Amino acid sequence: MNKISIMESSVAKWNRIIAGEQSDGGVLDCTPCRIYYMLVCTGCPIAAHTGHKFCKGSPYPAWFHHQNEVHGYMRRKVYCDECRRLATAMRDFMIEIVEDLKARKAAQEQRPEALPDNGIEG
Ligand SMILES: [Zn+2]
Repeated sequence: MNKISIMESSVAKWNRIIAGEQSDGGVLDCTPCRIYYMLVCTGCPIAAHTGHKFCKGSPYPAWFHHQNEVHGYMRRKVYCDECRRLATAMRDFMIEIVEDLKARKAAQEQRPEALPDNGIEG
């Protein structure tokens, strides 16, 4: 799996949450977490994009806090319009990262000598 397909699977996860087909298992069912988290959250494309570990700077903390403070159930899923709005923001942010990775990959393929290897295929 390269970083683009990892992030595409994250887009798919949030689409299933928005559709009400799945709850959010956080680290347990987040593809980039499963690959990069390992206690230190190193090398994740989300962390690279935000400049922060543990999904800080992404829409995830707002979703997480809304779930805990407003709903407080074991399962984090779409319960109200605000849930749907926050899950959609997270899905859109994952799409933004996919698009960014694709643009970087295309630029790298066009001018391989001009850009350092930033590990997109990693
Ligand atoms: Zn809600």
